[in-house]
Amino acid sequence: MNPGSDHSGSDTVRVRFAPSPTGPLHIGGVRTALYNYLFARKHGGQMLLRIEDTDQNRFVPGAEDYILEALQWVGIQIDEGMGVGGPDAPYRQSERKDIYSKEAERLVAEGKAYYAFDTPEELDEMRKRLEAANAPAAQYNAITRMQMKNSLTLKPEEVQARIEAGEPHVIRLKTPRKEEVRFNDLIRGWVNVHSSAIDDKVLLKSDGLPTYHLANVVDDHLMRITHVIRGEEWLPSAPLHVLLYRYLGWEDTMPKFAHLPLLLKPEGNGKLSKRDAELGGFPVFPLAWRDPFSGVVARGFREDGYLPQAVINFLALLGWNPGTEQELFTMDELIGAFSLEHIHKAGARFDIQKANWFNHQYLRQRPNEELAPVLQKQAAGQGPDCTPEKAVKIAGLLKERVNFAHEMFGEASAFFYTPEQYDEAIAAAKWNEDAVRAVTAFREALQGYEGEFTADAIKHLLSDALQQAGIKQGKVMQAMRLALTGSGAGPDLMITMEIIGKEEVINRLTLALQRLKTPVN
Ligand code: GLU
Repeated sequence: MNPGSDHSGSDTVRVRFAPSPTGPLHIGGVRTALYNYLFARKHGGQMLLRIEDTDQNRFVPGAEDYILEALQWVGIQIDEGMGVGGPDAPYRQSERKDIYSKEAERLVAEGKAYYAFDTPEELDEMRKRLEAANAPAAQYNAITRMQMKNSLTLKPEEVQARIEAGEPHVIRLKTPRKEEVRFNDLIRGWVNVHSSAIDDKVLLKSDGLPTYHLANVVDDHLMRITHVIRGEEWLPSAPLHVLLYRYLGWEDTMPKFAHLPLLLKPEGNGKLSKRDAELGGFPVFPLAWRDPFSGVVARGFREDGYLPQAVINFLALLGWNPGTEQELFTMDELIGAFSLEHIHKAGARFDIQKANWFNHQYLRQRPNEELAPVLQKQAAGQGPDCTPEKAVKIAGLLKERVNFAHEMFGEASAFFYTPEQYDEAIAAAKWNEDAVRAVTAFREALQGYEGEFTADAIKHLLSDALQQAGIKQGKVMQAMRLALTGSGAGPDLMITMEIIGKEEVINRLTLALQRLKTPVN
């Protein structure tokens, strides 16, 4: 069978994103959510959001809101689940306790799981004993369970008495000793594991809450999930999940699995971490996050000036390719092009330069009016006067030259300040007799001009003036720019002059003629 044939059945596709609120959502989590979303939309299915918060020790306040806000920011719409509701509510696992304990008890009653009363010290002792004996794996399993304190080794009356007395206990899966566990991962193909490699996992903890494995499988079944698309870090858990489906009697409707490739460090060696982000000065979280315990703030793509469309496009191509050369995709285009078949098996190297490139592409597409306030705000903080009209025009020019909206102001000094200095190398190379004549002729033309000062009008004035003076425009344009802005390169000069205004253009040309020495040539 082709492992890539991701969906051919007639069932409605139902996928879920199931984060644990243990901190800010990592950007890899956003990619997982995105791939689920694209897959659901592509197949006309549904995307669920379930909060997996059964590990109370790892609960972090604010993380759940963060997840919702991050998904909303990037434009991933949830059809069912947290924040939306739906027929399988509640979607927060801590509110579904009874559902899981009922299933765990059922497994015990059917002889597929058992109560275990071992204290942490006893478990530790077992581990030491097995390690000392050089046992292949120091774990609770088909062999070692018979030496421990559980409902398989204790008499039924004693088990009953212990439970009635409220003695802390867990429910463990009675993992078979010799059984093949295999499943066909849609990305990785067949995965075969021998059950001896799976220990007797705890399903229900002593606090009555399920472990991730039990809750995850039970919910995926009850919520009629057809495809489990998640990070590669969950691949080792998948055989256990398959076994659980089998034991719970749900194997025939078990979802298909697709494990996504890891996000790798920029150098490509190892998993991308928060530390890489700190060292590299880039974000690995969608939104900035203030740790509620330490107060430390981690940077976010949003706050660093990335556009959500750029983040989505960047993430989509981090582990998936469309099979064509196309690089820019709107969300709708991604939905159309997406398929699990084109997801890579190998890890995806996290290249922030690529993210910046995408941001540049999407920034150019934003309306100037939307970007102008960023410029105005920075100008307001630093002194120069910047009317909304001026900001709109500058934004239109500079958005082509930067990756981020906040970088525009740094490139905008020529629009606000008369140059104090002139690029020496350009001056030496380009400021010659012709340049002086050209600037003088153009200045005179401007002084006699009373019409509207638009880029078009300026263009004609300049070319007429130069023609009359018998000077080739191409030879003096850099000198002209030098006189006006102090540098040899920059955005369209005609529009630049329009923005600066006639009086200031004349002023700058006059100053340049005074300040720049004419080389003898
Ligand atoms: N709660 C798990 C997580 O935090 C979900 C894994 C899965 O999708 O099965 O990533």
